[in-house]
Amino acid sequence: MLISAKYFTGKKPKALTMSYDDGPFEDYRLVELFNKYGIKGTFHLNSRYLDRDDYPAQPEKIKMADAKKLYEGHEISVHTVNHCDLRAVNNNRFIHEVMDDKKALEDIAGYPVRGMSYPYGYYNDDVINHLRYLDMEYSRTTKSHKSFYMPDDFLTWHPTCHHNDALDLISYFDSSRWNMEMPLFYVWGHSYEFSRFGDKWHVIEEFCKRISGRDDIWYATNIQIKDYSDAVKNLKFSADDSMVYNPSCTDVWLDIDREPVMVPAGKITNLK
Ligand SMILES: [Zn+2]
Repeated sequence: MLISAKYFTGKKPKALTMSYDDGPFEDYRLVELFNKYGIKGTFHLNSRYLDRDDYPAQPEKIKMADAKKLYEGHEISVHTVNHCDLRAVNNNRFIHEVMDDKKALEDIAGYPVRGMSYPYGYYNDDVINHLRYLDMEYSRTTKSHKSFYMPDDFLTWHPTCHHNDALDLISYFDSSRWNMEMPLFYVWGHSYEFSRFGDKWHVIEEFCKRISGRDDIWYATNIQIKDYSDAVKNLKFSADDSMVYNPSCTDVWLDIDREPVMVPAGKITNLK
């Protein structure tokens, strides 16, 4: 019996997730676009910068009072209180930057905020170790790999690409090279880039148009991808692989002898 993890939630062979930083004013328009096309995003916010408007030092930010409703159905995530380089701060400040951002964002979101992205994309081993100690579950870098593999370590979650390269990679995403994996298309950027350097909204609209509405893609937030990955890793198999217990609250889809099999949440499933 050949068992492999080949599907995401709902038996979808592929997944797409979007990741946007800093909470600029242009997020209003970006979220509207994602909602129109059924695409899910994660928004990494600096709690102290919300409401701020001192352009051009900082592009105008979204209003704190709007954040909960705006990002509904998407994910709110940490980006530190002050958008600081986490390699350069002492331990006290580190805890403040991460945990106080988490707390402030949880007050807005109304759910545990569990992930983040690195301000400026900066991190090192110490930063990662500190985040592990603080139980941060993932953190996105800015190191695009132009590929579709899942991360080895979610605290160095390298994205597929910046949104400027996303359109060009759709055909590669659909190539047979990625038939046997669980390919994840992970796009990152800042929504102000669509306005501040000339009108580039067509870049993201064209991408959304071409990648949306497909039965073979799970449109998910960053944390939904992490949760599903954890559910797959936490499956408990019997020694002879004839049974599997899924202790998570997520149904997992396996590929068994080239057939999709659902392993329901909280249940033991016989595989023979
Ligand atoms: Zn940033």
